[in-house]
Amino acid sequence: MQGQEPALIEDCLLPSVPLIFDMRTSNHSTSRRRLLKTLPFASIGLGSALPEFVHGQEPPTDKPQSALQSRVKSIDVTLRRRRPNPDPIRDALQSLPGVGNVVVTITSDEGITGQGDIGYGRIAGGLDALKALIEHELTPIVQGTRLSHIRQTHEAMRKETDYHGTQGLATLGIAAVDTALWDCLGKTLNVPCWQIWGGCHGSIPAYGMLGWINYTEDQLKERCEQALAQGYRALKLKVGFPSLKEDVKRIEFVRKIIGDDVRLMVDANQVLTVGEAIMRGRVFEELGCWWFEEPIPAHDLEGYRRINEEIGIQLATGENLFSPQDFGRFIRHNAVDIVQPDLRRSGGPTALLEIGHLSNAYNIPYASHGGGAAHMNVMACLPNVIYVETGGTDHLVDGRLKLPQGPGFSWD
Ligand SMILES: [Mg+2]
Repeated sequence: MQGQEPALIEDCLLPSVPLIFDMRTSNHSTSRRRLLKTLPFASIGLGSALPEFVHGQEPPTDKPQSALQSRVKSIDVTLRRRRPNPDPIRDALQSLPGVGNVVVTITSDEGITGQGDIGYGRIAGGLDALKALIEHELTPIVQGTRLSHIRQTHEAMRKETDYHGTQGLATLGIAAVDTALWDCLGKTLNVPCWQIWGGCHGSIPAYGMLGWINYTEDQLKERCEQALAQGYRALKLKVGFPSLKEDVKRIEFVRKIIGDDVRLMVDANQVLTVGEAIMRGRVFEELGCWWFEEPIPAHDLEGYRRINEEIGIQLATGENLFSPQDFGRFIRHNAVDIVQPDLRRSGGPTALLEIGHLSNAYNIPYASHGGGAAHMNVMACLPNVIYVETGGTDHLVDGRLKLPQGPGFSWD
């Protein structure tokens, strides 16, 4: 219902009102608005006026029952802990030792399972916090829901977690469950999820994230040469050193190795000020960099808008935005040229599809933050996809990643 004109909302609501009111008066519109004010939900906001099925009740259906009607029987949450890397990769903002994964397994009443796997880069205790949130807050909402109504289940999870804010940990939990639900549905139907949603690509161009800020020049050279040999035609380098001079030195070092025909993107991981970002962005453009990613803190919409007005290089952001609504705000305010959603922080495949179609409607390109089979399934269905972010050689052919072909989110 969001974004609809008030008149349309009224049209949706009023048919359920008993015919004790005359709707065919000459003051039709005014009467309808006055009537709305008399309804019990009017005092608690339009959110309560949404169709009932959005909040948990099923819409009426006279369609035949099918495997789609199977329900969620159980939800199991397990932790795969990793010993944090003593020499972690680093960007300008943070060290990323990698502490493990939270894995949600959903089993349907037909005995088919689906999984959602959420990697956690920082804070070892975060795994336990996320597990508790899924078990105590999301499981009661999802238990018994139909696989044919994943969108409804997704909205219910967002609505309930709104009590403490559907951002951060709540969104990671929703993403894990949402991924497991779609995986279970795809496996129930024995098709990849991109075939359910409607595919439009056979493969996706890949770029290599290889230039971590703590790499020595020897390490950087080795990684660049390896990536070129693997077939990559686009690479990303971390910037955001204390001075522009250090950033420039790093970019020029990599450019000499990869040549002029390979695209080079730069990523400052939120550490700059608006003024510094404008100054550096102009220099990065002159050096031939292809996009400038996350120059300032992710939430600073006004800052991104100001930067985008001042620099020519493409401004990319999105890995730290937490909902389709966040992306909508950035797009509407001309604060982003390339959206980069993360499956975990966006809320799972359901939200990624929404962000993808929203950005496509505004002719904004989509480049994933991270990859994986679930995100690849989403990107297979988005006309505006330009890149998947990756780093290895699995499924890589001529600089492009082939689509997963297995049921649900399985690769094979
Ligand atoms: Mg980034």
